[in-house]
Amino acid sequence: SSLGSTLESKEQYDIVKVDLEDDRDYPIYIGTGYSEDESATLLQQHLAGKKVLLITNDRIAPTYLDHYQQLLSRNNRAKDIHTLVLPDGEEQKDMNNLQKILDRCLELGLDRKSTLVALGGGVIGDMVGFAAAVYLRGIAFVQIPTTVMAMVDSSVGGKTGVNHALGKNMIGAFHQPSCVFVNTATLETLPDRELQSGISEIIKYGLIRDAALFEWLEENMERLVQRDPAALRYAVVQSCLNKAAVVKADEKEADVRATLNLGHTFGHAIENGSGYGTWLHGEAVAIGIAMAARMSAQMGWIDESLLQRTMKLLERAKLPVALPSDSPMNRDTFLKLMSVDKKVANGQLRLILLRGELGNCVFTADFDEQAMLDTIDHFCE
Ligand code: NAD
Ligand code: MG
Repeated sequence: SSLGSTLESKEQYDIVKVDLEDDRDYPIYIGTGYSEDESATLLQQHLAGKKVLLITNDRIAPTYLDHYQQLLSRNNRAKDIHTLVLPDGEEQKDMNNLQKILDRCLELGLDRKSTLVALGGGVIGDMVGFAAAVYLRGIAFVQIPTTVMAMVDSSVGGKTGVNHALGKNMIGAFHQPSCVFVNTATLETLPDRELQSGISEIIKYGLIRDAALFEWLEENMERLVQRDPAALRYAVVQSCLNKAAVVKADEKEADVRATLNLGHTFGHAIENGSGYGTWLHGEAVAIGIAMAARMSAQMGWIDESLLQRTMKLLERAKLPVALPSDSPMNRDTFLKLMSVDKKVANGQLRLILLRGELGNCVFTADFDEQAMLDTIDHFCE
C-alpha cells in the first residue's frame, strides 16, 4: 500500500504489517476483545526457542505479569517462561537495569534462539529492546506495550536504548521486534495523565501527515479520552500505520523521520527547563505543538483556523496548551535548551512547522526568527 505497511482486519483485532527490508517485516496486533486462546496463539508464533524471559516493572507486575506468563506457556509445556521485575520509572531506564537484564539472560543460559518479551510502557520497551539488541549480538524480542505512548509511538520504529546521566536515550541501537502485541484493555488501569500524554502523539500524526485522522479525532476525542475500546483500537491502528510509513521511508532518521518531532524541540526545552517530574513527555509536546502551530500561523504558513482547531483538539484531550504563570521558562532558557536539541545541524536550528493545508509540515531552518521569538515570548507571558 502507499503507506508502506498493510492493514488486515479480523473481528477481534487488526494486524498492521510493518514492511521493512531484509526480511525484518513484523506484525503489530491491535485488539481489545482477544480470547485467551487467540492471544496465546498469536504470541507463541513469535517465540522461536525454548527459553523466554518476560520482563516488566513492579507497577505493572501485580496486575498483568501472571496473565501474560500464562498466555506465553498456555498449552505449551515445551517453553520455559522466566520473569524479571525491574523497578518502575524513567530514572530506571539506565545501564544498571540493562546490566540486570543481561545478568539474568546469562544466568538462565539464554541462547541465540531465545526471546525477550517487554511488558510495559516505553521505558520497559526501550530497555528490553536494547538488551535484545546486544545480548549475543542480537536476539529476538516481542513488545507488549501497555501505555498509549508505547502503543502508538515507542514500540514502532526499532529505536531502543537507555539514558545516560549526561543525556536521555544516549546509548542505544536500532533493533526491530518480532511482533508487537497490543491489547487496549490494558489501558483501563493507566492513569488519566499518562493516557492523555500518549494522545498528544496521535494528534501529532494527524497534523504532520494525516488530515483524515485529525478529522476523526475532532469527531471522537471524548470517546478516546473515555477509553472507548473501538475508538482506542482505531486510533492505535491509524497511529501505527502512520509511524510505520514514516519509518519505512526513512528508517535511520533524516528529514522525513524528523517530522515525527513536531512540537518536540519546544517540548524538550519545556521538559528540561521545568524541573524533573513537572511535565510528562506528551504534555510538554502538547505545549510544543501549540507553539509550532502558533508560529506557523504567525508566518502565514497555515490559516488561523487551523491554529484554532489544533488548540481546541489539544484542550479536548485535556492536554496543556500554555505554560503556567509560575513556570521557570523564559526566552533565554528556551533558546539555550533548544540550541542543544538534536535537531541543530551545522549550528542552525531546524524546526518542524506546519505549512499548507491540514496534514502538511516542513522540517526547515528557513523560518522567520522573529516569529519564533514572538511565539516564545507569548508563551512565557
Ligand atoms: P513509562 O514506560 O514510564 O510508563 C508510564 C507509567 O505508567 C509508568 O509508571 C508505568 O509503570 C505505568 N504503566 C504502564 N502501563 C500501565 C498500565 N497498563 N496500567 C497502569 N500503569 C501503567 O512511560 P511511557 O510514556 O510509556 O514511555 C516513555 C518512554 O518511552 C521514554 O523513556 C521515552 O524515551 C520512550 N520513547 C521511545 C520511543 C522510541 O521510538 N523508542 C518513542 C517515544 C518514547
Ligand atoms: Mg515523543
